[in-house]
Formats: sequence, C-alpha cells, structure tokens
Amino acid sequence: MEVSFAREIESLRLRQGQTFHGEGILAITKALLQSGVAYVGGYQGAPVSHLLDVMVQAKPYMDELGVHVEACANEASAAAMLGASIHYPLRGAVTWKSIVGTNVASDALSNLSSPGVKGGALIVVGEDYGEGASVIQERTHAYALKSSMCLLDPRPDLGVMVRMVEEGFRLSETSNMPCLLELRIRACHVRGSFEAKDNVAPAVSTRALMENPAGFDYMKLAHPPVTFRQEKLKGEERIPAARNYIAEQGLNELMPGKHADLGIIVQGGLYNSLVRSLQQLGLADAFGESDIPLLVLNVTYPLVPEQVADFCIGKRGVIVVEEGQPEYIEQEIATLLRRRDIQTRLHGKDMLPAAGEYSVEVLAQGLTHFAASYLPGPAVEAAKRWLDGNRQRRDAVAAQLHKPLPIRPPSFCIGCPERPVFSALKMTQQDIGPVHIAADIGCHAFGTFEPFSMGHSILGYGMSLASRAGVSPMMQRRTLSIMGDGGFWHNGLLTGVQSALFNNDDAVLLIFKNGYSSATGTQNLISTPGSAFAEMSASRVASQTHTNTTIESTLQGLGVQWLRTVHTYHVDQMKATLKDAFTSDYDGLKVIVAEGECQLERQRRIKPWIANLLKKGERVVRVKYGVDEDVCNGDHACIRLSGCPTLTIKDNPDPLKVDPVATVIDGCVGCGLCGENAHAATLCPSFYRAEVIQNPKWYERLFEGVRGALVRALQPA
Ligand code: SF4
Ligand code: SF4
Repeated sequence: MEVSFAREIESLRLRQGQTFHGEGILAITKALLQSGVAYVGGYQGAPVSHLLDVMVQAKPYMDELGVHVEACANEASAAAMLGASIHYPLRGAVTWKSIVGTNVASDALSNLSSPGVKGGALIVVGEDYGEGASVIQERTHAYALKSSMCLLDPRPDLGVMVRMVEEGFRLSETSNMPCLLELRIRACHVRGSFEAKDNVAPAVSTRALMENPAGFDYMKLAHPPVTFRQEKLKGEERIPAARNYIAEQGLNELMPGKHADLGIIVQGGLYNSLVRSLQQLGLADAFGESDIPLLVLNVTYPLVPEQVADFCIGKRGVIVVEEGQPEYIEQEIATLLRRRDIQTRLHGKDMLPAAGEYSVEVLAQGLTHFAASYLPGPAVEAAKRWLDGNRQRRDAVAAQLHKPLPIRPPSFCIGCPERPVFSALKMTQQDIGPVHIAADIGCHAFGTFEPFSMGHSILGYGMSLASRAGVSPMMQRRTLSIMGDGGFWHNGLLTGVQSALFNNDDAVLLIFKNGYSSATGTQNLISTPGSAFAEMSASRVASQTHTNTTIESTLQGLGVQWLRTVHTYHVDQMKATLKDAFTSDYDGLKVIVAEGECQLERQRRIKPWIANLLKKGERVVRVKYGVDEDVCNGDHACIRLSGCPTLTIKDNPDPLKVDPVATVIDGCVGCGLCGENAHAATLCPSFYRAEVIQNPKWYERLFEGVRGALVRALQPA
C-alpha cells in the first residue's frame, strides 16, 4: 500500500479558469497534462518522486485522457522511453533525481540527443543539490552541454514553472533537442497558485492508436556514419533554432532596475533567494522589484549570446549568480563578452563561493562584495548589519551551551526490519573478525551511522556487489555486499549478480527484501507483496515469509546455488546464516535474502485494519518492550547493538549507582529487537515484554483483577 494521493489527483482535473493551489512539483504534473503529453515515465527519487507517484495513482484518469504512464525499472529505461519522440509527434516526459539518475540515464540520453526528436521530449530532473541533498554534489548542466540538450531552470513561481513546461515541449519540437527541466528542492516544494487550463488529450494516444509505424530512416539512428551529420546538425541548426525560440518567446526574463549601470544574471531557480538577499541590502522590495537590473535565465542552456551581450553593454559591472561548480554559465558569458570586445567587468565566483548551496545568507555575502565595489554606502552597511546580527545570534546560542550539541545522525525508523540485521552483523564480526562491507543506496545506508558504522564504500544504486569485485580477490576473509530490493531491481541484478556468477566469484550478498523501494517513498516493486498480503492480518504478516518470491526465483533461475531466506527479526538465525556464509566451503556466490516488511509501510497497512477492529469492539493487542531499571546495570550494550531511537537512557534511580540506566520511551512499536538482541548476545535480563490489550475478553479482565489484588496484598503497606 503506497501513500494515497487522492487529493492531488483531484488537482490534476482542474479546468480552464479554475485556480490551482499547491506545491511546485504538482503544478509541473498538471502542466504536463495541459501540454498534451502522451506518455510519462520515470524513476522515483527526491525531490521529484511526487510527479510519478501521483501519475501512477491517477491511472484511471490517465486512461481517460489516453496518456500512458510507466513506472520504469531505472532511469536508463525511462530515458530510453523517450525514443518514442524520435519518429512520432508524441510529447513525452520522464522524471528522476539528478545527478545520480542522469548518470544512469546518460547512455540513452546521448543516443536520443544525437538523432534528435520530433515530438517534444521533456526530462524533469530533481536537482538534488545543496544543504538538503542526499547525493553527490554535481551539476546536471554538464549533461546539457555534452549532449546538446536544452536546460530549463524556471523561476520558482508556479505560473512561470507551468509556462516553462509548456514552452519546454515547444522548444524541444522547434529545435529537435530534448529539454531538461531542472527543479531544485525548494522549487519542488514552493507553494503557490496559478490559473489552470483544460488538460489536452494527445492526438496520438492509447485511445487513438497509430495505424502504421514510421518509415525506415537511417538518419534517426544514433549510428555512424549519420552521427557525423547529426553532430553538425546540433551546431548548425538545432542550437540556433533553440536560441531563436528562446529570444522570440521571451523565455528569459529581463527585469529593469534603477541602477542601470549594473546587472545580475541569475539562474531562474535561484531568483527567489536572490531577491530575498537583495532585500537585506535594501536593493529589492518584498514584491521582487530589484534596484539592480536582472537577467533571469529560465533557460540556462543554450544561452542567447545577443541577449546576454545586450544586457551587459554599457554596464560597469555584472555578476553571474550560478550555483555549483564548475561555473559553466559564467565561463560562457566571459567568452562571449571577450569575443565581442565588451568591456563590462564580469563577476561571479570571485565574489560567491565556488561550491555549496546559494542560500540567502551566502548570496548576501557575495552581493555585499559586489555592492562594496560598485555601490558603496547604505547597501553595504545594511547587509553587514544583517550578517553581523545573524553571526551574533549564533554566537549567543553557542555561548549558552557548555559544549557543542551532539551530532544527531539520521537513523532507521523505529521498528525498521533492517536494524536487526546490522545487530546480527555486529555480533557476527565479533566472532569471525571484521569484514569489508560494500554498502549501497537505500534505507540500509543508515547502517553506516552510529552505532553500526558499517560500510566501506557506496558506488551507486545497486552497485554494491559489483563494487567489491576488485576487493574480494585480495582479501583473506570474504567480503559482504549489501543491497536493498530496490537496488537489486534497479541495477544490482545485472551489474552485480550476473557478473559474480559469470566470473564464479566467491562473494556474499545480503539483499534486504522489505517489499518496497522504501528510501524513495515506499514505491512498489516487481517483488512487492500482492494485494492478498495487504489484506492479511497483521499477526499473520508478522510471521509470514516468502510472500513474494520473485527475487529468490530470479536468483535460482540465474544459477545461484547457495541461497537462504531469513526473517530479519530472527537475530540468532541471521547471525548463524551470516557466519555460515563467511565460513562455508562453498566458494561461489552466496546470497542471503533478509526478509522483513518496511515498518513504515506495515504501519500504514495495519492502521486502518486496527482502527476497524477497535471500532467493532474487538480485541487488539499491542506489544511494548521495557527495561527493568532495578536490573539494568548501565553498561548500555543493548543500545550499542540496536540504535533504536526509543531505546535510550535516563538517570539511575538507585542513588548508589552513577551510570544512567537504559529505558524504552513512548514510541516503541514492539518490534521485538530488544528481546532478540538480549537473547542473541546473551545480555542482562533487564528487558521485559508487555502486552497492551484493548477490548480484553471477560476472562482476561477477571485474571487481571485477581492478579492485581494478589500483587497489592503481597506488597508491604
Ligand atoms: S522506511 Fe522502511 S526500510 Fe526505510 S528505515 Fe523506515 S522502516 Fe526501515
Ligand atoms: S522493541 Fe526495542 S528495538 Fe523494537 S521498537 Fe521497541 S525499543 Fe525499539
């Protein structure tokens, strides 16, 4: 069961004249439908997961419009889907998280860009860059440059974002270039409104099928010798056509200001932060009116040289506000100014940091340098006062603390089925010695944080098994590769398993089979348990294994001979299986499937079911764990083995003991790991298991009454 997007789907149905209110990424989704998109695909990932999630759940409505929606196996398959636009007048959109997704998709993107497209092709990428990013810090811009794809970077205003989707399709069709539309995290989540239009049912669609395929045309293949011609077309026809369209349709925005001898050229996506920082210098008002003229690049590639030159001519100084490195835009502008012998002084990375997110404060610092050179006086003083005030407030907070705040790394959800495996792995390594662990992308990457700190490398989504191939032949002890079921299907099966089997590698692979692509928002996979599982009672599910054996049967089909499926909460059994895998005489690929449903999904699934039972007055049992504070000796081995956020410490109630005792706070979901760990690691007997019974049976009430009376009678008065 995935999160329900029923409300969002209603927004997609808005008609001409109605007002859309909501988040940026949903506005983009609506804009796709208004543009007559015929097919949509993608692979989930922050911050654009919402687009595909909503589209997938809106399937009945998409069928009404004739729009095909495909939840692709990975970004490469999503990019390849755009092949439909090479021959046919079909508008297509795909989406993924960048830079990682664009890396995976790049082969197909190169081969799409070379022949070019006939139908508009739009790639909506979540530019996951900056303070909230979860991936390596690189820029999608590089791909636009190398493959000759237009790059739109719309100003984070819903009306502008929607327009750029519509224009993106037209730009793509006019220039035959695929268009990337990059959305930073803040743009995806910015809220606002725009006046909706009717959705457009595509002329060719799943409801209006093409009679015949296109005729054979070798020019449409990314194959030599026509690739030589295609390269020329990029430079001689496509990029000039794109530039003309960008200039004619006014895709970039020119905003005048009273200091006409200065200028700021900004990536569209940074506009809001720029204006907010200009406000701190007293150089803009709250409505976005800037005193310094702005050239807002809603299209950052290709630039329109005449437009940039016209903007710069006659100005004393221009600063380019471009986030990330290298500074592609600034370099291009420097070149075009030099070639035209325009003497305007150009700034950018000399005043702004080379790397990192351009937050309002960072921008204000850079603009202060710019203002100091060209507008000395009140603007600089205002900015310094604001920046100093921020610094003083931070210093004041720091001064009140006796020591720095402890680092609080992210962790597994409470009750996550993956945590017990790391507990078992910790114990196993105590027995056999440390092993090289190739980690991967997914929730299990939380195992790289305290208290586990496990994982030597992360080379990409589903790449763990492949990434140990150079290590394991050099290592006396076997290496371990960890991947999730999401990673397994995304890439791991082919790059890792196939290769290890083909080379007869002596390797150990542990696959977390939690049923969903959890880290990206618990989307379904081919191995997600079916609807029968969703309707199963919670107690049956807890004991159920092998609810969907697609992973196991795939592995067996490929020839994996050493294969074990172990429930993750059976810590003792997991420990024994890991030990067996590391010490077994079998020298081929050994795979442990660690089965345990994602707790987040489980809670979502059982919540309505439990609410229904309670409503009917039926008996419901919740399990909680606790620590007997009189028994706890305060060594905290349980905490070091588990890392569960609800297993923590409190002051020792015994005045003769100084060490704090362990305690279980509210929020414990009763996953049972505490008990399993205590048993597997032979810890102290402080843990107890309590059952909270709602709507108990009559005999349970009676028994509880008698027991309570007995306990009271035995206690001293
Ligand atoms: S989302 Fe699911 S798999 Fe991920 S940490 Fe939470 S419970 Fe574990
Ligand atoms: S049983 Fe233990 S590990 Fe599980 S949720 Fe409760 S405190 Fe956390």
